[in-house]
Amino acid sequence: MIVQEEKTKKIRSAFAVKNKQYLTPHLIRVIFDINDIQAGLLSNVRAGSNNKIFIPTEEGSAPFIRTYTNRKIDLENRELTIDFVAHGDNGPASAWALKASPGDVLEIGMKESTRPLIPNADFYLLAGDATALPVICAIAEQFPSDVTAKIVLEVAGREDELILFSAADISVEWLHNPHPEEGSQLAEAVKSVQFPPGVLKEYVYIAAEYTTVRELRTYFKINLKWDAHAMNICSYWRAGQSEGKSSEST
Ligand SMILES: Cc1cc2nc3c(=O)[nH]c(=O)nc-3n(C[C@H](O)[C@H](O)[C@H](O)COP(=O)(O)OP(=O)(O)OC[C@H]3O[C@@H](n4cnc5c(N)ncnc54)[C@H](O)[C@@H]3O)c2cc1C
Repeated sequence: MIVQEEKTKKIRSAFAVKNKQYLTPHLIRVIFDINDIQAGLLSNVRAGSNNKIFIPTEEGSAPFIRTYTNRKIDLENRELTIDFVAHGDNGPASAWALKASPGDVLEIGMKESTRPLIPNADFYLLAGDATALPVICAIAEQFPSDVTAKIVLEVAGREDELILFSAADISVEWLHNPHPEEGSQLAEAVKSVQFPPGVLKEYVYIAAEYTTVRELRTYFKINLKWDAHAMNICSYWRAGQSEGKSSEST
């Protein structure tokens, strides 16, 4: 069988901050201006895809590279949105977002793709911690109306919950965890989800801290013997380690 790889164009450009706002106490929304040239480049980049941000260092050495989500790409209003978890100034990306102000410039790299964020299914289980809020919100917004999804999200507290918009039939369960670097209840909550009977095609998407992800990968692959095509379970960060310091981090 010949698998034809989709041709992807890589884009890297410097974007200026237009606006910054706290969506919740621990989630900073940074909206970047898209200029005319960038609008052309971004026409095939899908909201919810991931990017690489290049955070400049004060001494001018090589930038820190971190992975984030293109939460929204609004070509009409020329706005690119990234939502940053504010986990303190212990990481360059979180520290950058805490300090960012209009006019600041950030280099962002991304790839073109017209592929849907997740494959077709009848029932979805989406789960994640605060770092997965952007991608899970984007997935929910792109769902067609004829699917059903159970969504489990872990955020610091009640005031960190967001309203999710979707044409699909979604039900959202929130967990609260003010110290995600010290452990999480997300894996237990996911394991207790009851899949509706008689569903033809199920799909699981999970993005969270490494330990939770490792536990849930084992659960779905080994315990439940799910097919690898029916899941995407991805580590988004690792407690006690900077991105790039762990070879197993994604
Ligand atoms: C595909 C993908 C998409 C992602 N999209 C987003 C996104 O849209 N928004 C977003 O906020 N994050 C997102 N992340 C997660 C983000 O890349 C990591 O949280 C990253 O470590 C943040 O970089 P930093 O420079 O702030 O901290 P780092 O320098 O990487 O880490 C410094 C310290 O902070 C800790 N730390 C890192 N993240 C967190 C956290 N969330 N909570 C508590 N402690 C933390 C680390 O364990 C480490 O001890 C995504 C990750 C991937 C792989």
